[in-house]
Amino acid sequence: MTAKEILQLISEKGIEMVDFRIVDVPGRQHHVTVPACEVDEDMLEKGVAFDGSSIQGFRSIEESDMVMRPDLTTAYVDAFTAHPTLDLVCDVYDPQGVRYERDPRFVAQKAEAFLKQSGIATDSFFGPELEFFLFDDVRFDSSPQGSFYAIDSSEANWNTGKDEGPNLAYKVKQKGGYFPVQPTDSQHDIRTEMVMELMRAGIRVERHHHEVATAGQAEINFRFNTLTATADTTMLYKYIIRNVARKYGKVATFMPKPLFGDNGSGMHVHQSLFNGDTPLFYEEGSYGNLSQTALYYIGGILHHAPAILAFSNPSTNSFKRLVPGYEAPVNLVFSKGNRSAAVRVPVAAVTPKACRIEFRTPDCTANPYVAFAAMLMAGLDGIRNKIDPTELGYGPVDKNIYELSGEEKLNIRSVPGSLGEVLAALEADHEFLLEGGVFTKDFIQNWIDLKRTTELEPMNLRPHPLEFQLYLDL
Ligand code: GLN
Ligand code: MG
Ligand code: MG
Ligand code: MG
Repeated sequence: MTAKEILQLISEKGIEMVDFRIVDVPGRQHHVTVPACEVDEDMLEKGVAFDGSSIQGFRSIEESDMVMRPDLTTAYVDAFTAHPTLDLVCDVYDPQGVRYERDPRFVAQKAEAFLKQSGIATDSFFGPELEFFLFDDVRFDSSPQGSFYAIDSSEANWNTGKDEGPNLAYKVKQKGGYFPVQPTDSQHDIRTEMVMELMRAGIRVERHHHEVATAGQAEINFRFNTLTATADTTMLYKYIIRNVARKYGKVATFMPKPLFGDNGSGMHVHQSLFNGDTPLFYEEGSYGNLSQTALYYIGGILHHAPAILAFSNPSTNSFKRLVPGYEAPVNLVFSKGNRSAAVRVPVAAVTPKACRIEFRTPDCTANPYVAFAAMLMAGLDGIRNKIDPTELGYGPVDKNIYELSGEEKLNIRSVPGSLGEVLAALEADHEFLLEGGVFTKDFIQNWIDLKRTTELEPMNLRPHPLEFQLYLDL
């Protein structure tokens, strides 16, 4: 869309406000809103100023004057404002008009440009599958001493055993076997409402369903697209899901493991490379119909997995999901069917164009722009350096991994177990991310520092409620 077309849209739709949005380093959206009557072609081309010092991970006070410049292709008529509002996703510039290197969207765009320059492929496609929980209420005490939270949900209470009353025959049974129909699935209508809003926003939704966890876990899938466009869609998706949930008096959370003892929420990421119209991951008759290029891509992902996880699983909570028994991946191997493998190769009804790999480790606490970029850079490093996953002992493993003999199991590496470990892994292994200037040293160091000081340390230093149960009388 051109600036003229945006102005036309504003008058046609009776838009009263224009919302300029950016994404901070951890991956939250921020906005400033301008009355539509103040918006002209010049503002749409040059952008609006904002104070970058208050954005998490951005600049310090003394160099805080930044500019957000809209990408006009992202225009979305907001469904959740009292007054008609047009949302625009922006790129961040410094006052000299230079792209800001800590803008996550810039990292994603540089990764796509690097792919084209590499001559390996013209496009990388990403298809994330986001899972989330719907709770009636979540209460937590975030004061410095606080570490208490409570989830209030008819389904969650039942599941966690907090509901001590008798079952008056209207409560659903635990784990109804994945996706039984209503009334066991009490969230069909809210998911449909979410899908309707996603489609109104131009997102191509493929399906929705209840997920395995008892307490209102959901999954809504949208169609894959190129890297930055998919990251934009992921942000808009989360915005829409959260706001529809709120309309229904619920809280949608994408945190990976809100409930102990039940399935967590992942963000499996399907990936493939194309040269123009030609898919590069398909070769009929080979293992999973995968081409050598696809195998090297998998090699890159698995070899760099500990470092990538610092972007794809970047929360302390992420590692409470990556444990055996809940369909979350724990093994650094690839496999045609095994859901505990970090990389799965979908084989059901796969055509050359649909041939792809599925990296199952990521979760929705990832900032999609940098997480997708990190995966692409790892995959490309695999291709450029011919990293053979089989030679390095990353599979394929098609047997049930839980049933392997002790010796066979010994050869299988596991995903790292904590945020601290993956941040250390990123510190030690990031040359592949610096290629072509896609990630800068500053971006990586800033990321590590931010995660350590604002998440890892505050979490580690705070006594946990369970510690009282374990140690109060010891
Ligand atoms: N919830 C699982 C995870 O954490 C995935 C379950 C599924 O989609 N089959 O990754
Ligand atoms: Mg799925
Ligand atoms: Mg799922
Ligand atoms: Mg999946």
